[in-house]
Amino acid sequence: MPAVWWRYFNLATRMRVSYSPDYYAPIPDQHVFPMRKFEGLYQWIIDQPWMNPSGVISPSMARMDHLELIHTPSYLNAVWDGGLSDKEIRRMGLPWSKGLAIRSRTAVQGTMNAAFMALQDGISGNLAGGTHHAMPEWGEGFCVFNDVAVAVKALRQAQWVRKVLVIDCDVHQGNGTAACLADESDVFTFSMHGEKNYPFRKVPSTLDVGLEDGTDDEEYLMALEEALEEIQMQFTPDLVFYLAGIDVLESDRFGRLSLTLDGLMERDQRVLRTYAEKQIPMVVLLSGGYAPTLQETVMAHSVVYQAAHDVESLY
Ligand SMILES: [Zn+2]
Repeated sequence: MPAVWWRYFNLATRMRVSYSPDYYAPIPDQHVFPMRKFEGLYQWIIDQPWMNPSGVISPSMARMDHLELIHTPSYLNAVWDGGLSDKEIRRMGLPWSKGLAIRSRTAVQGTMNAAFMALQDGISGNLAGGTHHAMPEWGEGFCVFNDVAVAVKALRQAQWVRKVLVIDCDVHQGNGTAACLADESDVFTFSMHGEKNYPFRKVPSTLDVGLEDGTDDEEYLMALEEALEEIQMQFTPDLVFYLAGIDVLESDRFGRLSLTLDGLMERDQRVLRTYAEKQIPMVVLLSGGYAPTLQETVMAHSVVYQAAHDVESLY
């Protein structure tokens, strides 16, 4: 086969992502968290002509000693053994089950694996993850473990990477990530979020951009551009984690911003292009999204994976 054809074939099928059926944990039907979105996004991605089904890598559960790099043993044991108090479960926002404990550990490993794949291939993702409200000692806002913080700490400890950038564009501030990584030198956390939205007590990131309710595409993209420029002047990472929350959409039930789907696409393309052009490895993560229907939620989450595919040839 001529070399050029081999190269084309290679480019079309290179991207690998993490996904496991264990990402689903049973919760009541009326619960606001769209637990079926992980499976929906998996179905979408394997239907794409550019996606090779063998590029979907199924993670095992994250090891306890890795989780302990961020979370306290008492919290980890309580999640695993079902020992959380009613108050802790309310703060977490998800009913406890063994399935939830398994799901949470598996999704952390999915992010760790995606980071390794990104370091090899340029861009990768986890069809889950970005659980940025999880604190060392408790879970909150539908987040049990802080996958990004665990991955950052594990990769840095093993010296796979030194400088890590977290770009968190979920509409809710990345309070857990900021708290978990506050003492890490060479880690830059950036959160762009609705200033008046949850969490009401924000934990300072390296750079926070708080947006007014009702912020539209133009205002949002201008603020993003400015922030990306500022970050590039200050910090050149070895690896980027991108939390591509879709709760910035106008149609979101909790978001309070006014982005259109076109604005969301532009946001994801700009973030990914900025670092793909520099050949800096990137990990794409879901974080939050509460569109009116499951189908719309899945479709909006697919935007960043299409954008990831569009930039993969830059690596
Ligand atoms: Zn969110």
